[in-house]
Amino acid sequence: MVQVLSYLGLVYAVLGWLNEVWLHWADSVFLSHYSEYMAIGIFGVYRVAVEKNPYTRKRIAVLTAMVVGFWGLLPYVFSLAEPAWGYFSGRAIVGRSLHIPMTLTFLVSLALVFLFGRRAVCSWNCPCVGTRDTMGAAFRKQSIKSRTAWKLRHLKWVLTSVYFALFALVFVPLPIVRPIIEGFLGLVGLIYFGSFLFIPLTGNRNWCRWLCPYGGTFGLLNKAGFYKIKAEPDKCVACKKCEQECDMGIPVQQLVQSKGEVKVVDCVGCGRCVTNCPKGVLSFHDVRDIFKRDV
Ligand code: SF4
Ligand code: SF4
Ligand code: SF4
Repeated sequence: MVQVLSYLGLVYAVLGWLNEVWLHWADSVFLSHYSEYMAIGIFGVYRVAVEKNPYTRKRIAVLTAMVVGFWGLLPYVFSLAEPAWGYFSGRAIVGRSLHIPMTLTFLVSLALVFLFGRRAVCSWNCPCVGTRDTMGAAFRKQSIKSRTAWKLRHLKWVLTSVYFALFALVFVPLPIVRPIIEGFLGLVGLIYFGSFLFIPLTGNRNWCRWLCPYGGTFGLLNKAGFYKIKAEPDKCVACKKCEQECDMGIPVQQLVQSKGEVKVVDCVGCGRCVTNCPKGVLSFHDVRDIFKRDV
């Protein structure tokens, strides 16, 4: 029953986006890109009520509040212009523009990811993970875990490469820039919402694992910055619980044994491996370590 309702929630989010962008069946906030945020709000309350892991419960509560408040209500009530350059100048200061290059919120999120890891966006503040960890949570067990699925993570560099090209293109004052940028954003939207419909077959994080250009960008900073999961390999009993919990299909136990840490582009910092390890092998580390050493 939960799976059926969750899938209906996913379909509602897709229909909302389709109606706003292409179909124009109804001019209603209830059938727009806000549909995704409303569905996250409803299913987020349910997920918080049933989640047993205290860390995940707290994360889903904050995530739901961020999506409903920051991505939903703020842009709906206030349409503030954001200081930005080129094509993106004049966009709303919050909400949909967070992932768009050359906006203030985007630059702030890059800084946060460098300091605290990809979890700053990909686990605590992104409508995508809001969808995946609320409606998508009913399908977590379907996450594909195999060597091939792990190798396929490199697919995301295709869209990420085009995305990097946009960084330069936003400054080019030519008419051709507009259709290129809007075409790319339309394609990303189509694949992003299309991925919702395949969640029962692939598990909840299909888009984040293999396709997301924003995740690719944040992932590079994740790797270059202060964030990592440190491990104490001597304490590991090879139970693989960490890998079973990881929706991104990361071979956590293998990394614990071979590198003594998990510091990969793909880690979204959800904390499931850390909080479910029965031996306390894993721990989060980020920029706050600098201050801890000084104490
Ligand atoms: S991978 Fe992309 S879509 Fe998924 S949570 Fe991160 S930024 Fe959002
Ligand atoms: S859950 Fe902990 S003990 Fe089990 S394999 Fe992973 S790191 Fe090792
Ligand atoms: S490695 Fe751990 S923290 Fe990173 S995505 Fe997987 S379960 Fe989440």
